Amino acid sequence: MKKKGYYGHWGGAFVPEVLFETFKELNVFFEEVKKDSSFWHEYLQLMSSYSCRPTPLTYAENLSKHFAGGHIYIKREDLNHTGAHKANNVMGQGLLVKRMGKKRVIAETGAGQHGVATATMAAKFGFDCTIYMGEEDVQRQRPNVFWMEKMGATVVPVTDGSKTLKDAINEAFRDWVTNMDSTHYVLGTVCGPHPFPEMVAWFQSIIGIEAREQILQAFGKLPDRVYACVGGGSNAMGIFQGFLQDEQVGLVGVEAGGKGLSTGEHAARLAGSDASPGVAQGYKTMFLQDSDGQMLDTHSVAAGLDYIGVSPILSDLWEKGRVRFAAATDSEVMEALDLTMKKEGIIPALESAHGFVQAFKEASDLGRDEALIINMSGRGDKDIFTIANAYGDPSWKEFIIERAEQYKKG
Ligand SMILES: *Cc1c(COP(=O)(O)O)cnc(C)c1O
Repeated sequence: MKKKGYYGHWGGAFVPEVLFETFKELNVFFEEVKKDSSFWHEYLQLMSSYSCRPTPLTYAENLSKHFAGGHIYIKREDLNHTGAHKANNVMGQGLLVKRMGKKRVIAETGAGQHGVATATMAAKFGFDCTIYMGEEDVQRQRPNVFWMEKMGATVVPVTDGSKTLKDAINEAFRDWVTNMDSTHYVLGTVCGPHPFPEMVAWFQSIIGIEAREQILQAFGKLPDRVYACVGGGSNAMGIFQGFLQDEQVGLVGVEAGGKGLSTGEHAARLAGSDASPGVAQGYKTMFLQDSDGQMLDTHSVAAGLDYIGVSPILSDLWEKGRVRFAAATDSEVMEALDLTMKKEGIIPALESAHGFVQAFKEASDLGRDEALIINMSGRGDKDIFTIANAYGDPSWKEFIIERAEQYKKG
C-alpha cells in the first residue's frame, strides 16, 4: 500500500514531536472535508462570489498567428482576487480553519504575494493574522507590506540568517509550536510536510478541472501540451491535475533559469543539474543545497520562483517522466512579456512569463489542428518596478524621483 504523504520516495512529514497532535488534527479535518461534498460546494460558492471563478480560458489569436503553429490558449488565473492563483489555496484553507474552530492564522511570505492573499482571507473570515517575512524582503516589498498591515495583519520582520523566505518559514514554525491550539499555519504552496502538498494541490485542482472543460468546449479536443511556471509548484499542480490521466497531453513545468543555468544564479531544481535529494522544512525533495546540506542562494527576476525546494509531487512526476521540466532565463522572460503585452494586451506576472517562454519556443512544433494551454498564474501589475527598470524607461525613472522629492518636501 502507498505510504501516506509519500509520492514515490518524496514527501513525508518530518515535524517536531510537539507538533504531532496538531498535524494529526489537521489530517483528520482534511480527510473529513475531502469526503464531504458540501465542503467543496461551499468552496466553489466562495470562489465564484469572491474570486471571479471560473476564470476564463482566453484564446490568444494574435500570438497563435504570430507563431503559426498550435493554437495558444491562456488560463487566466490573473483574474482571481489579489491577482493570482494564490487565492484558491488561502480561501480553501480559510474554510478549513473555520471548520476546525481556530481563530488565528499565520503564514510565511517571500515576495509578499502569499502574505497579501492570507491577510485578505483573514480579514474576510475575521481571523487574527501574523505574517512572517525576512527583514530583507520587508524592505524590498514595501507595497505588499503596506496592504497586509492595512488589512489588519501583523507583519513580523525576521532578522535571522539570510533574512529571507527560508528564515521566515523557520520562524512561522516556531510560532506554530507555541500557539498550536489557537493557530493554523497557512502554508503557501504544494511543499512542506504532509498533508500540505496534498491539501494545497486539492484546492488548486480547481484550475485544471475548469481548464479541461473549457478547452473541450472551445477547441473540441484535449490540448497537446500544458505549460506552467514552477516555484513551489502550486499553480502547475493545479492545472496539471486536470490532464494527468490523459497520457497524450504533455505537461511542462518551467523553472527560473535566472542568469543562466551555468552561472549558479538560478532556481532550477528539476530542470538543472545543481539540485540533489534532501530533507528540509519538513519534507523530502530535490533541493538546491551544497554537499553539507546547506541551502544555496538562488536567483530569479521573479521573486515567486526563487525557492530552494520544489513540490515532492512534482519530484515524483519528474522522476516518472510524466512532467517535463525546462528553465527560462531572466532575459527570455522579459522578451516573452513584451510580446504578450504587444500582441494580446495581457500583462503576465514575471513568474507566469516563464511558462510563456517555453510555450513560445515550442508553439511552432505543433500543427494547425493542435492546441496548447499556458497557465497564467498571475498578473504583472505588481512587477511594474522591475519591468520598468528592465526597459530602462527614462520617464518612469523621472516619475519615481519626482515622487520621492515631493515626499521629502512633505
Ligand atoms: C507565488 C507565485 C508563483 C509561484 O508559486 P507556485 O506555488 O509555484 O505556483 C507563480 N506565479 C505567481 C503569480 C505567484 O504569485
